[in-house]
Amino acid sequence: MLSLLLLHFKIKRMKVLKFGGTSVGSVENMTNVKTIIDNGEKKIVVLSAMSGTTNSLVAIASHIENNAREAALAAVTALYETYTPVLKHLLTETTLHELAAAYVLERFEVLKTACNTPFSSVLENEILAQGELMSTFMFHCFLKQEGLRSALLPALDFMKINAQKEPSFLHIEQEITEALAAAGDADIYITQGFICLDAEGHVSNLQRGGSDYTATIVGAAIRAEEVQIWTDIDGMHNNDPRFVEGTQPIANLSFDEAAELAYFGAKILHPQTVLPVQKDGIPVRLKNTMDPEAKGTSITRNHVESGIKAIAAKDAITAIKIKSGRMLQAHGFLKKVFEIFETYETSIDMITTSEVAVSLTIDDDSKLDAIVADLEQFSSIEVDKNQSIICLVGHAIVNHDGTHKLFQILKDVKIRMISYGGSNNNISLLVDTDNKIKTLQKLNSYLFQFAAV
Ligand code: ASP
Ligand code: MG
Repeated sequence: MLSLLLLHFKIKRMKVLKFGGTSVGSVENMTNVKTIIDNGEKKIVVLSAMSGTTNSLVAIASHIENNAREAALAAVTALYETYTPVLKHLLTETTLHELAAAYVLERFEVLKTACNTPFSSVLENEILAQGELMSTFMFHCFLKQEGLRSALLPALDFMKINAQKEPSFLHIEQEITEALAAAGDADIYITQGFICLDAEGHVSNLQRGGSDYTATIVGAAIRAEEVQIWTDIDGMHNNDPRFVEGTQPIANLSFDEAAELAYFGAKILHPQTVLPVQKDGIPVRLKNTMDPEAKGTSITRNHVESGIKAIAAKDAITAIKIKSGRMLQAHGFLKKVFEIFETYETSIDMITTSEVAVSLTIDDDSKLDAIVADLEQFSSIEVDKNQSIICLVGHAIVNHDGTHKLFQILKDVKIRMISYGGSNNNISLLVDTDNKIKTLQKLNSYLFQFAAV
């Protein structure tokens, strides 16, 4: 009994470390990862597919869907050719090389067979799962070769989503304990990010970029000491480094701030990442595989009350303006509007209203025509595509002394919508995407004037 308890305790205090595609994308980077994880602590390591692989698998699936079988097969062959040199250089020990090469070949046989199978979403998900299966197997063999005590922890044995595509936390918590026991004693348990089973038991996934989400789901399931997300940049930056010079990594974020930022397109985190660990306050640290000493970003329960911390932008937003004379002093109008969006399962991101009109934004415009047709039954509609949401995030940002300056700074920018006060931690602006870079740059001066130090 005591030993069981101790085992339980040990499992619960492990850390979970997730490494992204670039971190496992070359022999050199995999060697860096090995150095990082080889510190004598028991841990679970979650891996993405090698960089570029999932994109190729998406392309293969889409060729199959379009019945372009030849193109699909050619893409499979091209992808296979990128794996052979990695296998050769990573695994110099003959038995392990042969073992991994045979496994990779088997995965490519699955892909080849898929090229001649009728398309379905189940087939597509099976194709997409091959990347993480290969990266984890290869990396596990590599660790063995380097003398580390590594064991594979198959994600499909415990990772499951329900009919609403949400993680089945209870199931995961129970099954991961069994999977860890079945994997036997090891220092490093390696599991696949991204992939899971769906409610019907078919292979599925947590959407693109989902390995981050795997890491925090696993972290919550084992009550990890912390979850580390290792990528190829030094944490979350306070503005978009692609468009603005002199951006800096943010040292500390609260869970709420991180959730706002991740959702609004700060590319480095899957939007749902922090949710599973927020309740238990398990810290999430964002670290850089290429520069392990860099501080990175810590996401914890603590927040510093000091105005704006970061700016992020999300493109490909569609704005819809709904005008109706009948809205004037009437009730039930918004309900009617929302019901239409509900019917078409389209979620609304930003919303502002006046006495006679409502403006709102969506990012999934696949049902736009049907939505507009229904709205036109009782209102006149204007649609603007190519919009960007720019969001400013910081704890209690709406109460901050400097916030009024925002309007001054943006006086030459045409703002289509503004959302202030929806949460205390966020101010969102909607601008034409053509004005995005200019807006981000102008906001940067504001950011540095009032940023938390
Ligand atoms: N390999 C998956 C993707 O590229 C999952 C991930 O890397 O997080 O989306
Ligand atoms: Mg990612």
